[in-house]
Amino acid sequence: MVRVNRRFYSDPFFDKTHIKDEGDERLFRLKTVVDSGSEDLSKMNFDVSDEQKLVLDEVDRACRELRPLEDQAYLAGKFNDHLVPIFKKAQLLGLPISRRYGEGQGADILTYALALERIGREGTGVRTFLSGHVSLGQLTVQKWGNEDQKQRYLPQATRGEKIMCFGLTEPTAGSDPTSLRTSFEDKGTHYLLNGSKAWISNGSISDTSVIFAYPKGKHDGMCAFIVEKAFEGYSSQQQKHKLGMPTSDTGSIFLDNCRVPKENLLGPLGKGLGVAYSGLMSGRLSVAAGCLGVIDDCITEAVNYSKQRVQHGKPIGKHQLVQRHIGIMSTNLEAAKNLVYKAALLKQHSDEEPENKELREHADITIAQAKYFASNASFDAADRTVQIFGSSGYSFETRAPRHLVDTRVCRIYEGTDEIMVQKIAVNRLGQDFEAYR
Ligand SMILES: Cc1cc2nc3c(=O)[nH]c(=O)nc-3n(C[C@H](O)[C@H](O)[C@H](O)COP(=O)(O)OP(=O)(O)OC[C@H]3O[C@@H](n4cnc5c(N)ncnc54)[C@H](O)[C@@H]3O)c2cc1C
Repeated sequence: MVRVNRRFYSDPFFDKTHIKDEGDERLFRLKTVVDSGSEDLSKMNFDVSDEQKLVLDEVDRACRELRPLEDQAYLAGKFNDHLVPIFKKAQLLGLPISRRYGEGQGADILTYALALERIGREGTGVRTFLSGHVSLGQLTVQKWGNEDQKQRYLPQATRGEKIMCFGLTEPTAGSDPTSLRTSFEDKGTHYLLNGSKAWISNGSISDTSVIFAYPKGKHDGMCAFIVEKAFEGYSSQQQKHKLGMPTSDTGSIFLDNCRVPKENLLGPLGKGLGVAYSGLMSGRLSVAAGCLGVIDDCITEAVNYSKQRVQHGKPIGKHQLVQRHIGIMSTNLEAAKNLVYKAALLKQHSDEEPENKELREHADITIAQAKYFASNASFDAADRTVQIFGSSGYSFETRAPRHLVDTRVCRIYEGTDEIMVQKIAVNRLGQDFEAYR
């Protein structure tokens, strides 16, 4: 279990233990244990439980198996075909999904975040696959889908038989999803979707997409749909020539009179924007968690190299300016961990109390802070590690430059730095100060 010191988390949400046993199928239930007797901040810790350790050991095993294969795929600049089989074997393709659905493992959000942290060490591309498939795809269907939709789409996704993605962004709609142009028409027995999506993680390899569209000719009442690759009028294309993440699929999706059955409307009619925002909360948290792994891997690389590379008669790790890089990375990692774990706990509590608007907003802002801080800290760590490696850090045969180009996207997707910072600021200033609508 994760122990959270009451004094550290002085906000009211941590003053109660959210230990609920609804008798459901979840394997791991979050247990926030309040160390009520202690005033001592040094006692605050995030120890993992035995159950979490079992999961993390399996994640670690899978990551070790994946690494040499990911190295090859990275240098070859192609999607790593071993990723899905290895993650399937480790039962990671539906880790936070209910055990009712295929190989869902019912892990709580913090356990899932810890797994993504470990996976992030293998690269942002690897973690991005899971963000698209699980955090944005499956978790959105699990939260908003009816039982029929969950039964139809989640088991195949958790088993890795079908890959999922989340299609919100369009060529002309990024930070402002309300400007999207994809439209739908109600044709009685089915919906007809027209438009295109751009920059979608897993976009060209996914079988099932969560797609957002407005009613034709309108700019309110956005809806979400579950769209299959097999539906008439659906096509996709891989995005090439990216800055980084060569092993991650990014694609465009084209909907040309795409026929979507009525029963594939996801969530209430006209409430698609809420579906999108809730998906983004999960997605942002997954980005933040993965960035912890990137920083961790950078520190490992930097420390090892600093001990072995000798210049001016001593290991470069004995030069104080090199130590400065490691000290800063290490401090940022600890700060980022505290934010990400807190965000994960708040998200878990918020999911358990969906009617609690205040709790949801608190989770939303903390996730934005975690995503903003961790993605900048991971980019900074990759940059510092490249610097420590000198010219060796300029070769993709070492890990740091891969992290540098790969983690850069974390400051862009799922909400840019600018959007995150404005969101956080408005939370302090008040809604009257909202910079945009
Ligand atoms: C590799 C990759 C994978 C992705 N995966 C997905 C995915 O799976 N699903 C999906 O739907 N999308 C995905 N995206 C898209 C991503 O979420 C968007 O690119 C992102 O939201 C930014 O939108 P944009 O690129 O259109 O930039 P724009 O919105 O055009 O922004 C351009 C610049 O203007 C700034 N800006 C915009 N509005 C404001 C404002 N109001 N105030 C201040 N500054 C502002 C931005 O911060 C940015 O710096 C992915 C993108 C990439 C690169």
